[in-house]
Amino acid sequence: MDEAIRKLDEFIGKSVSPFHTVKTAIEQLEKKGFHELKINRVWQIEEKSSYYVNIYDSSFMAFTVGNMENAKDALRIVSAHTDFPCIKLKPHADIYDNRYHKLNAEVYGGAILNTWLDRPLSVAGKITYRGDDIFSPRQELVNIDEPVLTIPNLAIHMNRDVNKGVALNKQKDMLPVCGIVEDELNRQDFIKTILSKYGSEEDVLSYELYVYQWENGDIIGVNGDMFSSPRLDNITSVKAAVEAIINSGVRDGINMIVCFDNEEIGSRTKQGAGSNILPMLLEKIFISLGYGREEYIDYILSGFMISADVAHAIHPASPEKNDITNKPYLNGGTAIKIAASQSYANDAGAVAVIKELSKQSQSDVQIFVNRSDMPGGSTLGSITSSLLPMRTIDVGVPILAMHSARELMGVKDQQNIEKLLTCFFT
Ligand SMILES: [Zn+2]
Repeated sequence: MDEAIRKLDEFIGKSVSPFHTVKTAIEQLEKKGFHELKINRVWQIEEKSSYYVNIYDSSFMAFTVGNMENAKDALRIVSAHTDFPCIKLKPHADIYDNRYHKLNAEVYGGAILNTWLDRPLSVAGKITYRGDDIFSPRQELVNIDEPVLTIPNLAIHMNRDVNKGVALNKQKDMLPVCGIVEDELNRQDFIKTILSKYGSEEDVLSYELYVYQWENGDIIGVNGDMFSSPRLDNITSVKAAVEAIINSGVRDGINMIVCFDNEEIGSRTKQGAGSNILPMLLEKIFISLGYGREEYIDYILSGFMISADVAHAIHPASPEKNDITNKPYLNGGTAIKIAASQSYANDAGAVAVIKELSKQSQSDVQIFVNRSDMPGGSTLGSITSSLLPMRTIDVGVPILAMHSARELMGVKDQQNIEKLLTCFFT
């Protein structure tokens, strides 16, 4: 297996909820000597050092500070998102019905619902327990890491029109089954069993538990040139960002990666890209380094951000869904995303920078544009660049089946984006 893909598969296997994406990234950053800065403390930042900040457990930033004298106006940022479409358990989730033990749940983000049926699923997330201080409850991350749930399809004999397309009801059809109840008297609540993992039942106060696709990724193709995996959107970008900041060393000026939660539900949360959190934390860095407000603003105005998120490769059965002259191929390189609507952040100057970086890093890039009669998606690039007005460009790994429980990419494209982002930081 290609080394970049093997490491990506490992990273995705651990990134089973946004909390776990952050945990996985921070473990790698700590191993490479990045020091933690607490979000709500006074920072003492030194030049030639590396830091990370845990932002409410489901977002994070990491940055290196080199010589600031030599590097006037050198702020470079890579952004990505830690979340992915999935199913989220509701409070009081246990349901007993027709001898089935089911869990009440809601859909998080724009998942392709039918891809979640008939698969081994598991549960991960955060549980809060009573602590010594009301405002600081004890928190534990949990990952069951066994295929304890599934959502069974309805047989074709009971739904003859199934191959014409079926509208799945999110409340009725998307509730995972976790067991069969044979003994009503001795049945055991699934949720209670998970919750009692790190504390007594009476101490449990709340939880945020995600249902995730349990299987790992697989290399596909007679020549092994594709990689099928859950959560390619957007762990490909998170992993590439972490890899880039770790491998580029400490450059003069500031290199930063910031990975936000809640992109799949619109980014408007305290830890999302639509929050003021990034400008605030950036300002803390400049205050700590002894700069005034105008210098901080100057750094932003002359900074450059790459917003990394996946793009749509041309589809084998529906090539007409892509643009007619800009066709991104699997293994064709990192897609530069362009939209007149600015649903992707871009301008000619920023595209030029990426093309030159691609040449310098000997990594391939290609252009993605939506068909003119299709609105396409949006990313956090346009949101962050309106809050932090610096040149910003959207790029990402081209994939198929975006928002399926399993997505598909070319094996060369992880290396392509990692080379590009590392070069950006060097
Ligand atoms: Zn995405």
